[in-house]
Order: sequence, then structure tokens, then C-alpha cells
Amino acid sequence: MYALIVSEKIFRGDPFVAIVPDTLEQEIQPGSMVLISTKKGSGRVSIGYILSLSTEENLITAEIEVADILYSGIPVLNASLLQLTGWIADYYLTRRIDTLNAMLPAAVRTTVHDVVEITEFALKAEAPKIISTALRRSIMQIMAREKRLTVHQLQRLLGKKQLYRTLSELERGGHLLLSKKFSSTKPKLRSGYRLNPSLPEESAAMLKHSPKQLEALTRLAAIGNTCAFAETIGCSKEVLNALIKKGFAEKVEIEITSSFSTGFAEEVQPSKTATASQQKALLQLVGAFEKEEYGTFLLHGVTGSGKTLIYIELLKAVMAAGKTAIVLVPEIALTPQTAGRFREHFHDEITILHSAMSNQEKYDAWHSLQHGKSRIALGARSTIFAPLENLGVIIVDEEHDGAYKQDRNPRYHARDTAIMRAMFSKALCILGSATPSFESYNNAMNGKYTLIELPDRVDGATMPGIHLVWMKESPKASPSISELLYRQIALRLEKGEQVILLQNRRGFAGSIFCLDCGHTPLCTFCNIPLVYHATEQHLRCHYCGHIKSYTAACVKCSSTNLFFKSSGTERIEEELQTLFPEEKILRMDVDTTTTKGSHGRILREFHEQKARILLGTQMVAKGLDFPEVTLVGVLMADIGLNIPDFRASERTFSLLTQVAGRSGRSSKAGEVYLQVFNRESDVFTALLQREESYKKFFLQEMAVRKELRYPPTSRLIKFECNSEDEKQAEAAALSCRETLIRQLPQANGTVLGPAPAGIAKIRGRYRYHVLVKLFDGKLSPHFIKQMGDDITNRFRSSGLSFTVDVDPQNLM
Ligand code: ADP
Ligand code: ZN
Ligand code: ZN
Repeated sequence: MYALIVSEKIFRGDPFVAIVPDTLEQEIQPGSMVLISTKKGSGRVSIGYILSLSTEENLITAEIEVADILYSGIPVLNASLLQLTGWIADYYLTRRIDTLNAMLPAAVRTTVHDVVEITEFALKAEAPKIISTALRRSIMQIMAREKRLTVHQLQRLLGKKQLYRTLSELERGGHLLLSKKFSSTKPKLRSGYRLNPSLPEESAAMLKHSPKQLEALTRLAAIGNTCAFAETIGCSKEVLNALIKKGFAEKVEIEITSSFSTGFAEEVQPSKTATASQQKALLQLVGAFEKEEYGTFLLHGVTGSGKTLIYIELLKAVMAAGKTAIVLVPEIALTPQTAGRFREHFHDEITILHSAMSNQEKYDAWHSLQHGKSRIALGARSTIFAPLENLGVIIVDEEHDGAYKQDRNPRYHARDTAIMRAMFSKALCILGSATPSFESYNNAMNGKYTLIELPDRVDGATMPGIHLVWMKESPKASPSISELLYRQIALRLEKGEQVILLQNRRGFAGSIFCLDCGHTPLCTFCNIPLVYHATEQHLRCHYCGHIKSYTAACVKCSSTNLFFKSSGTERIEEELQTLFPEEKILRMDVDTTTTKGSHGRILREFHEQKARILLGTQMVAKGLDFPEVTLVGVLMADIGLNIPDFRASERTFSLLTQVAGRSGRSSKAGEVYLQVFNRESDVFTALLQREESYKKFFLQEMAVRKELRYPPTSRLIKFECNSEDEKQAEAAALSCRETLIRQLPQANGTVLGPAPAGIAKIRGRYRYHVLVKLFDGKLSPHFIKQMGDDITNRFRSSGLSFTVDVDPQNLM
């Protein structure tokens, strides 16, 4: 028998045909993970995956043989997942092996941690005596003595490589247990530095012969009593360690987090009866689910329309029918409330996957889903690859969220992948959002998806009233807060209600702008505006971390009339504190949420009403459901409109609708104040509409998209050539353009570029983009691969890297 296989290390990940020996024929299946070895040569083995099997003699057979079968012969990829890897490779123009690597957790794709243990049964039965073949007997003899070994140790003791098949037979016989054991992983720690609190007074003088150390000392002094990472301070670890030796500084271990155990848990919610509109939506969804056919529904429900309850009730029906389900959320750490509400209903039936899990936890979770011990997988993007059989429903919550697109290879979009997986599994796919992506809403309009609308909030709660504050004409209470917003905040505090303030920092935010000459300090390496950090009194690049000291005057014209385009949340916090000296203010941004559990702690304090003002970045716009919030203020509501990206309006509309939706979610009516500099935008015209504001915005904006032929009226494919050598990067991009133009019939699309990327340089590498707008048809994966290989070969000497991004979400 022959097998079509992919393996990372062989033929650069391209599929090849290998021989399957007779002894393994019975057990091997498509989707199996195997060990392969070259018949000649070193006899090195590597892991491969079976794509398909055939009995036909194949002429292009490589001198490669399947040597052993892993994971007890159970396919690690079921039929629909295998089909999905093919689709992803084809659609996203990427290698098949990359899609497999994305699909299987790293913990599964390794044999290093494979462990064999002898069972109680085998020990008691004195198994070695009753076992027939010599190999089995030697294995059992060793195991009776050692009790527990890694497979690698056992292989060395026996001097034999191919043991997996025999081991899994012994496992089936109840003699052995095969599993993966990872050493317990400690929380990730990183060293931070701070000044020694008992610093000798003459320390600066003592360092006058070590200018670098003196500079480091000054920088440490600038951050006060807090500690920071070496890159944040802008000094090398060597220099900082020298300071520690002299007793001037200290090292502090800081725990890094991205954990789901955010420390936020709500009290159990009383069970609710679905409202009439929830009931109606459910009836339609459950009806479709029972047909056991593929279908995609777009659940367009305004904020607070009770989509979660619909998901939960539908999942109950899926569980009752003995099927399985996947629930995708954009970022699990940011939405502990949503995840918690699912857990409350499904307990052990649900597995919540998140990036902070240890390898052991990841492997155990995968294994438990694979074996049907847990039937719902909930998590971010990659959860779409959960190894579930018998899939009934896939739910993509907040389907418009950009976090669903992976920004490294394979650059798949989890929402579109979800739709394909549902199609291959004859399952239902439900996309939910208050502000659907244009792609999805357009598909609903043209009948590809079924649209279900929930135009009202549950329980008679009304949509919040939205007001614009035009900053040019408004008196100010502080540099960033208008008198009007200030008075609204004061009013809520008087009534004991809560306030959420969003400091939109999307785009070139937090940078400095000279009001006299227009100069904005840029990063020398990345060519993007540097961001001002008030506590450290410095400017920092958010791409590469480069630091420049801050001068209170413009470096070009010396004017002190500087404008903080969008001052960081820290500065707003200071302003608020001055305006409301008695009030405790909670700040939620990247700086306050790096340590473990801090995000959850902030939410909990707000939930328990220990503070009444929550100020933050986009993080505060996502999924929060707090009934006492009656006012939402946005400080620079229009800042996101200035980014050079055709989706700027869509994203701003979506963000503002989402954050506005945090207000007035219970019987208490809510208000929203948007501070703007530019009030003419269509985004605001639409937002101010009380009825069908999304649909009106969609129709307006679609006219523009149609005219310029932007998605969803076309498809974009972005090619990037980057290199340390700018000329070479540009030349490679030019050659990419020419190749594309030759291939692409004019009626099918246009080729734009090459142009320096919006962020023209990252970490010392120049980036050039070529953009294809495809009106019709598709680009052949074979042709793209050929072009990629050609370009990389031709420009190899300049270290060129070439990437393809299909349906890019980020054009910078
Ligand atoms: P969405 O995700 O659509 O913005 P949620 O699912 O968070 O809305 O629901 C909004 C609020 O309404 C939540 O506090 C939820 O507990 C509550 N809710 C939902 N459905 C009902 C119902 N049928 N009866 C009472 N309260 C409900
Ligand atoms: Zn200036
Ligand atoms: Zn930089």
C-alpha cells in the first residue's frame, strides 16, 4: 500500500508518496500520525501525517517508508478536519503542512514526552510470562522492573526504534498505558529592574566614569519606585546588572500573564425565560439544526439583545441530540463574563481553551475533546480546530472582530474557516454580532446566509441616547474632557451610578503633534509616530520598543504648543483625578493588565462597585455587561477615522456601537457622549439614527466600497516583500507585480503597487506591498507557490522574506 504524506522536514512540507509495509496496513488511516524513515541513509525518523491511501503502484514513490504509527493508531485528524486543511492551504495560498501545524497543538505533535507505564493488571498477572512474541516479552520485562519510562528511554534500552505499534497493542490488551507527560510548567517570569530604595546619595558621582551606567541610573530614577523591563528602560541587561552589582539597583521577577483565570467570576445568574424574540430566533435555529444540513445564520442583534441566552439554549438542544459544538470568542481573556456564563450551564461538558494553558493542560484538553469526554469547545481563533466528531453547531460570537484573522502563517480567518468546517461536517454555523462585518452582512443580503434580526434589547431596556460633543466649540473642564462630559459624569456619580470612558487609541494614537509646525516625532526604525508615556517621561515606539527622551518643546521649531494627539489613558486618569479628587478611578489598558489576574481584578472591582469610573482602551468596549453603567463617554471618537485603511469607518462605527452598548443595559436608561473634532463623518450621521443605524451605515458605506471596488465587492490579496536592503525589497515587489500582471486577466482584477507599507519599516526591515484586487475567479495556488519560490530564490542574498495574505484585515 502507498500513502500520501506530509511532513515538516521532508520535501519542504510538500506532500509525497511513501510505502506502507504490510504489517501496518491494517491500522493506518487517513489522518493518522506516523513515524517515517528514509530507507537509505541515516535512517532518521520524523513525524508525518497521512493525507490519503492507495493501493496503486506509484512511480514517484520516494525512498521513504512508514515506520511506525503514533497515537495508538487513532487518526489525529478526522475526515472533516483533513478536508479543512486542504481548503485552508488552497484558499489562503499556503503549505499544507502549515495548516496541519496550526490545527494540532504543539503538545500533540511531539513524541519527546511520550511515556509508557505498566498497569496494575499487568503487574499482578505477571504479564511477561504469558506474552508470546519476543519483543513484547522484553518490553514487559523491562516495564515490570521500571514501571514507568519515556518511549525514548525504552527504545534505547531495547536498541530498537519502532515500538509504537507494539506498545499500542499492549495498551489495547490492558498491559500498558501510553500517554504524554509534560513536566509541570512554572508561570512565566521575566526580570524587571528598579532603583535600590536605599540608594547612596553620591551614587551619580560614583558612576562618572561609566556613562552607560550613569544613563541607566538616570532612567531608573525617572520611573520612580516602579520596576520595568530592560527594553522599556532602554538599557542593556549587562549595564543594569552592573548597577545591581554595585548595589544601586535591584532585580524583580515579574509574572507575565495571558491567563484565562482572570480572577473575575460573577455570581450565578438566575435562570431566565427567553423573551418572545429570543424564542422566535431559537425556533428557527433549532429547526435548522434538526435538519442535519449545512447552513449559516447571521444573528444580527443590537447590544443587549440577549444573544448569549440564544447560544446557550441552542447548545442545550445540541447536547440533547448527542452532538458536539464549537463556540468561538475573539479574545478569551477579555471576555471572562461570556465564558463564565457558558461554563455555568455546561460544567464538565465544556472545555475552555486558552493560550495561557500549560502544555499538559493543552494536551489533556485536546485528548478529552478527541475522546468525546467533553463535547463543547470554547475559545479563541484556533478552537475552530478542536478535534470533535459529530459536530452539530459552530457559534462565532462577535464575528466582526479582527482578532479572528491570524496574522502569521497560515493566515486564516477563523470565521470563514468555521463556515467551511460547518459545510464539511453538515453542521450549522451561527455568526453573531451587533455590528456584523461588511462581508457577512453582504452575504446575508445576497442570500448566502440567513439573517435573523433582534432589533430590541431584552426586558424593555432602551437603546442609549447618543450625543456628539464638538470639541472645537466646547468649553473644556480639562485638556481632554469637555465641560459637557464632565457635568454628565458628575451627575451619574451623584446618583451612585457607574461610568465607562473609552480613550480610543486605535491608529496613530498617543503621539505628539506640534500645533505650530505640525511635526510628529517618528521612530527612526519603524517610521511610525512614537508614543508619549507620562510616568516615564519618554517617547516609545510600539512596534520595536525604541525609546527617545521627551522634551517639552518641539524638536523642529522649539514651540511648546504641543498637542497630545490622543493622550494615553494615564494622562486622562490624571485629568480625571484632578476633576474628581475623591473618586477612585480604574484604568484598564496594556500597561495595567500585564501582570497575572490584573484584568480580572479591575473588572471585579468595577462589578462590586468599589469604583464608579472605569477608564480604558478598546478593552472596555468588549462584551461587558454591568447593569449600573448609565453613561459611556468616548474621548476622541473620531481618531480611528484617520488611519490609511479602507475599513477605518467600518471599524470606528463598530467600536463606537459596541462601547455605546455598555450603557443602559438594565431598567436604568443610558446615555453616550462622543467627543469629536470632525463631526461631518458618515459614521456619526449613522450613529445618531435611533432606528436601524447599522443598516443605514452599511448601505451608505457600501456605495463607496462599490465605487472603489473594495471588499466585499472584491477580494484582496496582499503580497509582502521585506528585507534589510530597501532596494532589494522594492525590486522583489516589482517583480512580484510583473508576474501577477502577466497572469491576471484584466477583467478579473487589478494589481496595485509596489508601495512601501503603511509602516514602511519594522525592526530594521523594509516592507513593500503589492495588492491584488480580485473581481472574479481566484489565483492558482500552484502559480503563487511557484512565484514565491522564484522570488525568494532570486533575492536570497538579501535575506528576502515573501508572504501572502489572502483577505488581509490589516493593510498597514
Ligand atoms: P448581547 O450579547 O446581545 O449584547 P447579552 O446576551 O449579554 O446581550 O444579554 C444582555 C443582558 O440581558 C444580560 O445581562 C442578560 O443576562 C440579560 N438577558 C438576556 N436574556 C434575558 C431574558 N430572556 N430575560 C431576562 N434577562 C435576559
Ligand atoms: Zn514644531
Ligand atoms: Zn520602532
